[in-house]
Amino acid sequence: MPADTSKALVVLSGGQDSTTCLYWAIENFGRANVDTVTFDYGQRHRIELECAGRVAEFAGVTSRVLPIDTFKALGGDALTDDAIEVAQEIDADSGLPNTFVPGRNLVFLTFAAALAWRGGIANLVTGVAQTDYSGYPDCRESTIASLQETLRLGMDFDVRIHTPLMHLSKKETVELARDLGGLQAMALTHTCYNGARPPCGECPACELRARGFTEAGIEDPLLASS
Ligand SMILES: [Zn+2]
Repeated sequence: MPADTSKALVVLSGGQDSTTCLYWAIENFGRANVDTVTFDYGQRHRIELECAGRVAEFAGVTSRVLPIDTFKALGGDALTDDAIEVAQEIDADSGLPNTFVPGRNLVFLTFAAALAWRGGIANLVTGVAQTDYSGYPDCRESTIASLQETLRLGMDFDVRIHTPLMHLSKKETVELARDLGGLQAMALTHTCYNGARPPCGECPACELRARGFTEAGIEDPLLASS
């Protein structure tokens, strides 16, 4: 199946990392060649979906929301299950935070690849990073390389998964957003695991975001606007 190597589809969550990836894609492929997709996977914080829409509109690219209800039906993690609070500590049994949604990125990228296949788009862009504090195994470079190979085989499609943040620290991600002209859009993004806006400032996601901006010596536009 031939695909257009000049086109890219960005998996946009409405957060800081995927927004940075959107600006990376615009820089590398041109605004007119970039589309975004956002997954409604039953996340507790519906604000993420609104933020993704606002970011795409602000950046001048198309947006589309696709539903995936199975993670919520499975439950057991703090991002989809209302009964589970976000824990500050790593779970002793799994060695992972309770915000880990098993298989989430695998499923997102598989559906994104299906959408790209339909649209003849050869490039997928995702904000996963193996430097991420949380150590989610589906954010690792080896996982993404293996998934890319599986998608190529399974869809007979020369898809390429780009991970511009894979080896960057949070500080470097903030600097990249600045260099790509994406800082203003950060005011529209959502990071807080508690779904608070203005952000709670205390959850692991807020702390990580704050550290990145502080180390980069840049004021977070989200805090400046709220
Ligand atoms: Zn927070």
